[in-house]
Amino acid sequence: MLGPKLRQCDDCVKIGALWVHLRTCQSCGGTHCCDSSPNRHASKHAKASHHPVVASAEPGERWLYCYPDEAFAEY
Ligand SMILES: [Zn+2]
Ligand SMILES: [Zn+2]
Repeated sequence: MLGPKLRQCDDCVKIGALWVHLRTCQSCGGTHCCDSSPNRHASKHAKASHHPVVASAEPGERWLYCYPDEAFAEY
């Protein structure tokens, strides 16, 4: 399981935006913001990079989400 290196969305930090929740890409370990965030960097990253699975990067949350399958899995 890949977790967040830093608890921040790098893409949001670059543009000075705020996020709601964070997700960590299970293909490359990048941490991005969720679909409740204004910029939805996790979905954009999944589509652009073809990295399908993210894990919640929120403390205490233990689940994975697969974008192409729209499927949640707890672990
Ligand atoms: Zn972001
Ligand atoms: Zn990735």
